[in-house]
Amino acid sequence: MSNTIDTEEFRTLLTDERERLSKADKFLDDENPGTIEEELGEVGSGGTDNHLADTATATHDRELDAGIQEGVAQTLAEIDAALARIDAGTYGMCEMCDKPIGEERLRAIPWARFCIEDQRRVG
Ligand SMILES: [Zn+2]
Repeated sequence: MSNTIDTEEFRTLLTDERERLSKADKFLDDENPGTIEEELGEVGSGGTDNHLADTATATHDRELDAGIQEGVAQTLAEIDAALARIDAGTYGMCEMCDKPIGEERLRAIPWARFCIEDQRRVG
């Protein structure tokens, strides 16, 4: 079975997405230059009645950003792996069963490693 996917088109998609995520990653770094302790210290010094609520909000925001940044870093790694698979000539094939992942699925997730069946299996 031949691989009919236009890998150069997906290389462009992956490269564009990589650039977009790199900027998002940098933005999150710039947004959070301090530590969580510094941020909580500022909130605590206010001494207002809703001190606890503010602290909870600051903690929540930080965890949210950290979660997003972690997701961004992981997706960047997946994109790099996908670009390496394009170079190796294995792009678009499931790493589990070696069958084509399917162009529709790749358009939704260009860095997909597995076909939809195996993705369900690995979670
Ligand atoms: Zn598979």
